[in-house]
Amino acid sequence: MNASRAADRTAKRIALIPGDGIGMEVVPEAVRILRAAIAKSNRQAEFVEFDWGAERFLRDGTTLPAGAVEMFRRDFDAILFGAVGDPRVPSNRHAADILLGLRAKLDLYVNARPVELLDASLTPLRDRSENDIRFIIFRENTEGLYAGAGGQFRRGDPDEIAIQEDINTRRGVERIIRYAFEYARARKLGKVLMSDKSNALTFGHELWQRVFAEVRREYPEIEARHLYIDTLAAELVRDPSQFRVIVTCNLFGDIASDLAAQLAGGLGLAPSGNIHPGQVSLFEPVHGSAPNIAGKGIANPMGAVLASAMLCDHVGWSDLGDLLRAAVRAAVRERQTTRDLGGSRSTREVAAWLLEYVTKAKAALT
Ligand code: ATP
Repeated sequence: MNASRAADRTAKRIALIPGDGIGMEVVPEAVRILRAAIAKSNRQAEFVEFDWGAERFLRDGTTLPAGAVEMFRRDFDAILFGAVGDPRVPSNRHAADILLGLRAKLDLYVNARPVELLDASLTPLRDRSENDIRFIIFRENTEGLYAGAGGQFRRGDPDEIAIQEDINTRRGVERIIRYAFEYARARKLGKVLMSDKSNALTFGHELWQRVFAEVRREYPEIEARHLYIDTLAAELVRDPSQFRVIVTCNLFGDIASDLAAQLAGGLGLAPSGNIHPGQVSLFEPVHGSAPNIAGKGIANPMGAVLASAMLCDHVGWSDLGDLLRAAVRAAVRERQTTRDLGGSRSTREVAAWLLEYVTKAKAALT
């Protein structure tokens, strides 16, 4: 079944990979809430769970089984992912195989990190309201400094040399920049900002400059702006209200989006999407497996719930996505939160509150 046939199915097929640590705690809760939202509409979804993670790896060596990528492409619309990482696997080999493997092999070139302040009390910035912090960062997700190109020469020697190459392809740069403009156009957001370091990275990021200049011409209604990454970091803190859509490379997007997540309440609330438009894509909370709090029942499930909202948007169910986002917003405002957000509720209690909100919501879903 190719992508368009997958899109034709009435029931969406959603793969679940809870993974390790708190991933195993937050994904089941998010799925319960997602199922309730789907049940309110006349939509249908089939969920299939995969037990890939440290436990399975330690048991039989499985990471990402052969054929898994083809199976996802053929049979699934989306993947809801928890987190991978476990102190019993210090090399993190399973994590690299599973998550980085899926990102690369499914060519999930858009890393989308929406940042939205749900309640003014959650930002560490002074005098900022909900309207001031509402933007999205698109990070190139398949190349750049994370492409894995490079090598070490005379390893362990005092004269050792380590080289990490920054890979920027014309095709890769163009598709992420174009995605940002298309996103802004579809939602009438009016502006796109591209960030690079072309004054210092005069080869790779000069390509970003040229491609940006070309692509922006196709979107005359959108204000196209550029900031060097160091200036962007400063401006995100000084005045985040100036941003709507930010597009940048893999490394800078990684750093800027973690900074941005803190502006809106931190890791527990931040969702992300690893997207290939029109194809099976993977949605996950930004946080990791957090071994220090795993098994204690205190992990914030909201990042995973907001990731499932993004998953809904991806499969064409943005009304369900809106419902899930409204539930999280209401819970934050009612202080029904875990400790990381200043509350005292457990994972289960927060999830139960969200589930009830979704179940009782009056909005007529079609
Ligand atoms: P990695 O990101 O490499 O997997 P990690 O698992 O140690 O590393 P994270 O899980 O990303 O790191 O989080 C860092 C810290 O933030 C955690 O140790 C935990 O204290 C806190 N944290 C992260 N996610 C949550 C959450 N959902 N609820 C509550 N606290 C969280």
